[in-house]
Amino acid sequence: MKKIIASLFFISFCVCLSFSQAPGLFRIGTGGLQGVYYPIGKLIAQGLTARFLGPDKPAGIPETLFVAQTSGGSISNVQSLLSKETEAGLVQADVAYWAYTRQGPFEGLAEPAPVRAIASLYPEKMQIVVRKDARIETFDQLKGKTISLDEAGSGTLAVLRILLEAHRLSEKDLKPVYLKPEFTVDRLMRNELQGFCMMAGVPALAIERLTSVDYSIVPIDPTVAERIQGQHPYLFPGVIPAGVYQGIGQTPTIEVYALLVVHQDLPDEMAYALTESLWSKQVLSLLETGHAQGASITLDTALDGLSIPLHPGAYRFYAERGMVSKQEP
Ligand code: GLU
Repeated sequence: MKKIIASLFFISFCVCLSFSQAPGLFRIGTGGLQGVYYPIGKLIAQGLTARFLGPDKPAGIPETLFVAQTSGGSISNVQSLLSKETEAGLVQADVAYWAYTRQGPFEGLAEPAPVRAIASLYPEKMQIVVRKDARIETFDQLKGKTISLDEAGSGTLAVLRILLEAHRLSEKDLKPVYLKPEFTVDRLMRNELQGFCMMAGVPALAIERLTSVDYSIVPIDPTVAERIQGQHPYLFPGVIPAGVYQGIGQTPTIEVYALLVVHQDLPDEMAYALTESLWSKQVLSLLETGHAQGASITLDTALDGLSIPLHPGAYRFYAERGMVSKQEP
């Protein structure tokens, strides 16, 4: 009996010891498996972990393990930041702005959501992929078609709703389906779906996987995109460049910046270390080699399209480099 008690003591002692030495966990909310948030989030997590556990660990910051988590998308990422189920998230600038100004899905908040930016990462583009044989050449022709608009927690669905309204259409005018892109690819190839939508960077894996079907991308008329920008300043006209997807020419669309967002309660030193490490050579070279969209994540564009205030720790980093004024507004 004594032996058993002694070994139980020993085991719990070891467990306590390993917990006390375990690095802190820093969770980053991303998106679906076949979008761009997830692979980019994974590269960022990998690069930051290498720094925060390695010889270049920022001084005075505990060892930290970063993980990228799949999620429903931007709206879910804000919600899990607010409930502290994650420490950071990739969030569309328009969605972050809604949270900060209590609009749309965040209307019920008692106070502006305590979300703060670390950086702007890259522009996302609305990509409405349709089977060629569905003969959908304009946005209006989506009417009556079976189209997946992504899940309720996604930023894609939020932008789609704005686009429908701008075309005087509603979801009911389509036969809408609400699936993450990874669940639409096979359905589109089997002709159970005529199209699916993604507000994402390029190239998105879900679209690259459409190898056994002829598809096109529905253009968004630039005048409509401009009109939308008048009401939603963080959405702006843009293009999907020719050749991103085999056989698809340059396509006008609507864009928004993807931001790396944290809770305002994140300690300033941690937010500073996070920002400094994000822009380190180590993390940037991982991003550049790991994903085509990663090459456009640069310090030069770190403040493009920000829709919410910077976290004070991030602000200090940019102020030291003369990218924002010394005095925080
Ligand atoms: N912007 C999309 C959203 O918030 C996610 C895009 C992605 O997964 O790359 O729903």
